[in-house]
Amino acid sequence: MDFLRPGTWAEALAAKAERPEAVPVQGGTDVMVELNFGLRRPPALLDLTRVTELAGWEEAPDGRLRVGAGVPYTRLIAELGDRLPGLAQAARTVGSPQIRNRGTVGGNLGAASPAGDGHPPLLAAGAAVEAESAARGVRMIPVEEFYLGVKRSALEPDELIRAFWARPAAGPQYFAKVGTRNAMVIAVCSFAIALDPAARRAGTGVGSAAPTPRRALAAEEFLAAELDWDAAAAGREAPLGDAVAARFGELAAQAASPIDDVRGTAAYRRHALAVLARRTLTWAWNDLQAASRGRRTG
Ligand SMILES: Cc1cc2nc3c(=O)[nH]c(=O)nc-3n(C[C@H](O)[C@H](O)[C@H](O)COP(=O)(O)OP(=O)(O)OC[C@H]3O[C@@H](n4cnc5c(N)ncnc54)[C@H](O)[C@@H]3O)c2cc1C
Repeated sequence: MDFLRPGTWAEALAAKAERPEAVPVQGGTDVMVELNFGLRRPPALLDLTRVTELAGWEEAPDGRLRVGAGVPYTRLIAELGDRLPGLAQAARTVGSPQIRNRGTVGGNLGAASPAGDGHPPLLAAGAAVEAESAARGVRMIPVEEFYLGVKRSALEPDELIRAFWARPAAGPQYFAKVGTRNAMVIAVCSFAIALDPAARRAGTGVGSAAPTPRRALAAEEFLAAELDWDAAAAGREAPLGDAVAARFGELAAQAASPIDDVRGTAAYRRHALAVLARRTLTWAWNDLQAASRGRRTG
């Protein structure tokens, strides 16, 4: 097996163009497991750890954050936890401290597992993936168009992920997952929500309950119409209401097409998703109410 070690982004793109079969390695927390278990024997590995361009993040002139594919979860939590709170919550649930020190959102995207914890918050936040190839340059892929099937993404064989782009949170964001234990666990199902009161938008992301991570579109439309955004903006009390929370949970669960597997049954996943959706909506709405109360009294 060849081991390719580009020192720059341009060299990495050139290497991927020349050897499209080369498997990129960032943190290696997915790739090395597959190699060690003999699940994969690629002719070449493309080590991206020396490519410093991937290791940073920046704020673009339009206010969006551009986070390099090589930024590990630990740094994402420490440096961007205030601006990307939903993704940071998900990052805190990934593996163990060792895995979070090495593992990246770039690698989570590259693996495109339906159970990856990074996907639901990226979907809820309306993020985009910046992909690049030596031949065709940069293209931006809305994250909801990135996942094509179980562990299949829209990346072409000669493309690499350069970064993901997301707006800093415009309102409360939450992520929750159900696992068979509290840590070091692949999600049985997961859910993310992002409220944007100014845009009167609720973004969602469903994980580990369909062949790909996906949005719960009907649930989003329901909240856009049903939430009392005016009250929230004016700092008026506007309790969520059990019926709204329950219907949102139902619609979120209906967006899934789960399977029975060793981690849980399809029926359990649907039930748990409804609970997670209700719960995260309640947390997010209460935060919004508290923030507007604070503005009113402060
Ligand atoms: C013990 C353990 C616990 C785990 N727990 C969780 C968990 O709780 N939640 C979770 O979501 N995941 C978990 N994982 C899986 C893994 O840690 C994550 O998917 C992580 O985000 C992978 O990031 P990485 O940088 O290590 O990726 P790598 O292993 O380096 O790469 C993963 C995939 O992405 C591709 N890739 C990497 N970088 C690029 C790039 N720039 N462009 C294109 N393709 C690229 C690789 O070729 C590979 O296919 C766990 C893994 C282990 C070993």
